[in-house]
Amino acid sequence: MSLAKSSTMNFRFDNTYVRLPERFYSHQMPEPVPNPRLIRVNHQLADLLGIDPQWLGSEEGISVIAGNSLPIGADPIATVYAGHQFGSWNPQLGDGRALLLGEVLGTDGERYDIQLKGSGQTPYSRMGDGRAPLGPVLREYIVSEAMARLGINTTRVLAAVTSGSQVIRETPLPGGLLVRVAKSHIRIGTLEFFAARQDFEALQLLVNHVIQRHYPAAADARYPALSLFEMVMAAQAKLVANWQGIGFIHGVMNTDNTLLSGETIDYGPCAFMDTYHPARVYSSIDHQGRYAYRNQPGITHWNMACLGQVLVPLIGDDEKQAVELVKESLQGFAGLFLEENINLLSSKLGLAQATPDDEVLVRDFLNLLESSESDFTLAFRRLSELANPEDGIKSIRELFDFTDDFTPWLTRWRKRMAHKNLALNNTTLNNTARQPDMESTPDTEARQQMLLINPVLIPRNHLIEEVITAATNDGNFAPFHKLMELLDDPFNYHKNRRKYASPPLPEQVVQQTFCGT
Ligand code: AMP
Ligand code: MG
Repeated sequence: MSLAKSSTMNFRFDNTYVRLPERFYSHQMPEPVPNPRLIRVNHQLADLLGIDPQWLGSEEGISVIAGNSLPIGADPIATVYAGHQFGSWNPQLGDGRALLLGEVLGTDGERYDIQLKGSGQTPYSRMGDGRAPLGPVLREYIVSEAMARLGINTTRVLAAVTSGSQVIRETPLPGGLLVRVAKSHIRIGTLEFFAARQDFEALQLLVNHVIQRHYPAAADARYPALSLFEMVMAAQAKLVANWQGIGFIHGVMNTDNTLLSGETIDYGPCAFMDTYHPARVYSSIDHQGRYAYRNQPGITHWNMACLGQVLVPLIGDDEKQAVELVKESLQGFAGLFLEENINLLSSKLGLAQATPDDEVLVRDFLNLLESSESDFTLAFRRLSELANPEDGIKSIRELFDFTDDFTPWLTRWRKRMAHKNLALNNTTLNNTARQPDMESTPDTEARQQMLLINPVLIPRNHLIEEVITAATNDGNFAPFHKLMELLDDPFNYHKNRRKYASPPLPEQVVQQTFCGT
């Protein structure tokens, strides 16, 4: 089958990556699929990209999403990269089942990569077929869009289709494709690829490209590459703090899955935690627990060390001095993370300005969550309700409430909340759920804020699996659409959302997630 002629829809392409030298990528056409059918179009994202969502759902649009035709101005390439995977160096990776169609200028003035995923083999496919089963396509759509709604920097999904052909894994599975959108797909591993080959010219070109695209202020620094390093570290510190704050476990934090733009990428074996446990691991391939929840900040630091190392040759003429400068910056990572982390967790507790005492309060809360095996999401949500006037219809109390173990902690928290607003409130506090001194505090804003940052709906593993099973086994996409609709509004509870807000029943608990590649 050959590619149909270019489609008529006018994407605002302005492709810059393809202007880099040819050793950055391979030109590659998508391999057409027999019978693509639309799964879903992301209207909000289409609008942002200046692409007509109606057109995306049309026959022409579907054909583009499926890789059966190309929009005018697309210049498809598979990019090359390397990476540290589970700590081991892999000198040769690349887009093995994805193609960058080009970059589109969004209506917000930002530049966005438009990438097809599941579009067939490329020179970097190694043994792979370049295809994606439907399940991982739906998983990426659900989780990445949920992350976006939760305010976490992430790659996104513009649209998805089924391909009409099967992919062979352990069993034959329906195939799918999605259109991934990112500020860019440039990874630590992309820089590592050229650094390992001692291709310093390419390394410098790529660093210039990234600075211009994502961190223009670094261009004016004495050592732009060092400044870039510090800016990427700040972006990654914030990202991993946000993951920790929402109970997100990435599962495969390799350097080829770490974007310099600071967006979350690779929704393979990821998962949101149900019950809180710092050592939680879901990924079926993470045998050592390298990417466990509690290790994520440390692993980000490790990945930053990989980045720093490859930038050394671009920082001045004195290698020894460059190494010292990188080391010094790298030492700042823990501080960057901890500041983001404590600010986020304390605002989740309703304490906007964290004091050292608040850090203790936060740690003690997490320890209690762990010892009581509480649901991470619902515990923060319930706390937000306790800080706000209760509404029976909107309360999750029937799904989750604090056990007696929490009583002394809740007393401390209420006292702190009250003192935050009243210079010093010496009212004796008791342990009942409602506190008159809290209700009378004028700072309702901070308390309402809690309901806006502590979600009630997250893409729980058992819900994702249910949706994937219905679509894969029965071709029924209604549960997928329903879940997408609800996750678009994650901070609102109503009793009719009970099923989606509830933690899994014991028989529904998902213990492992898979890459599905
Ligand atoms: P990932 O685990 O998704 O980060 O993928 C690691 C590498 O394997 C990347 O270079 C992918 O492009 C490649 N890869 C994963 N799945 C496939 C596939 N089905 N066909 C070809 N390449 C693949
Ligand atoms: Mg990857």
